[in-house]
Amino acid sequence: MLVRMHDTTGSFGGPTIRKVGDVTTTALATSPLKAADRCDSCGAQAYIRVVLNEGELLFCGHHGRRHEAKLRPIAVEWHDETDRLQPQSTPVTD
Ligand SMILES: [Zn+2]
Repeated sequence: MLVRMHDTTGSFGGPTIRKVGDVTTTALATSPLKAADRCDSCGAQAYIRVVLNEGELLFCGHHGRRHEAKLRPIAVEWHDETDRLQPQSTPVTD
C-alpha cells in the first residue's frame, strides 16, 4: 500500500483579514463649494477655499495654485476641490 504524501506546507499564507469599518474619516466642517462661489481674483468658479483667521478666500484652480505657496502656511484650512475639475482635454502624447 502506497501512501503519497502531498506536501501542502509549501505556500501557506492565510488570507489577510482587513478590518473594515474602523477607518478614521475626517469629517469636513466646511460645506462643499457651489457653482455660485467665485474666485476672488478672476471671478471664475471657485474650487479652492482658503480659510484664514480673518476670513476666507475663494479661488479657482488657477489662482489657488498661484497663491498656494504664500497662503498655505497661514491658512487655517485648505479646502481643495480641484479634483472635481475635468481635465482640459489635453491630448496625451506618449
Ligand atoms: Zn481665478
